[in-house]
Amino acid sequence: MKAPPFAYARARSLVEVFELLDKHGAGAKLLAGGQSLLAALNLRLSAPDILIDISRIPELTGIKVAGGKVHIGALTTHAEIERSADVAAHAPLLAQAAPHIAHAAIRNAGTLGGSIATADPAAEWPACCVALDAEFVVAAKTGSRRVKARDFFKGVYATVLRPNEVLTGIEFPARSPAHVSAFLELALRRGDYAIVGVAAVASKANGALTGVRLAYLGADETPVLARGAMAAAEAGRPAAEVAAALAADLRPAPDLYSTAATKLHLARVLTGRALAALIS
Ligand code: FAD
Repeated sequence: MKAPPFAYARARSLVEVFELLDKHGAGAKLLAGGQSLLAALNLRLSAPDILIDISRIPELTGIKVAGGKVHIGALTTHAEIERSADVAAHAPLLAQAAPHIAHAAIRNAGTLGGSIATADPAAEWPACCVALDAEFVVAAKTGSRRVKARDFFKGVYATVLRPNEVLTGIEFPARSPAHVSAFLELALRRGDYAIVGVAAVASKANGALTGVRLAYLGADETPVLARGAMAAAEAGRPAAEVAAALAADLRPAPDLYSTAATKLHLARVLTGRALAALIS
């Protein structure tokens, strides 16, 4: 199938984006890397009147480390994050997760902001953002606001973003010396969206973990912070008990390949492996 007809405008600055959004309202769609949107157009799941191309806006690019934060512009590609020495040093969970996203060609074009705005429950970045307690910077003509990752995702492909807003950047806390992280997922084939996965972070001291945060992908309609399992980990319970607590945390939906029970089982297996990786 081919995309329905649409107009196209390339914006050179955020100001231009806001002017175009004002003019075209809900009939406009932002185009970043195009790796999700173009497929949605071709499948006629989306039929905007106009695409506003934001892919050449310098204000939305770059990785900066300052003031204990790692700021990543929304247009930063998956591949740039994968290759960044700053990310590896200061937000290593992202470097661990990046190779799991699709294939190299898609990672070269797809962007962090596009993935977060798409809000696929099986995507890697949303779960990493929730695990790391990231903050999203969202701008509109009238000003900008900050939204915590845990408050951003509202359902399958649904977020708190308003039609006149642009996600401009994502801010992660820079790692402390005791910070440890692990990213694990299971997919049918390398590069496929995950069946289920976990983004795990903690502080490690004297062979013990504190502040364990476990965020799951593919386990509900949004990324899930598994509060029951995290409380069990914080209480020093054995890994099997931490994994058992997931029954109350996760609500995986069955799909063509896996039942809900299989996904819960796989999430438990990954949890054991993630905790072992954090403590190793
Ligand atoms: P686009 O496709 O350009 O846009 C996607 C949506 O986000 C649109 O609605 C657009 O309007 C909106 N948007 C984009 N940028 C912004 C912004 N700054 N502010 C507000 N709204 C914005 N992803 C995974 O996470 N894991 C996978 O395993 C995976 N596998 C894939 C396999 C294939 C074959 C393909 C084609 C894609 C796959 N993807 C996967 C999706 C890929 O990661 C996309 O790059 C990503 O989901 C969207 O980023 P984009 O820059 O391409 O956004």
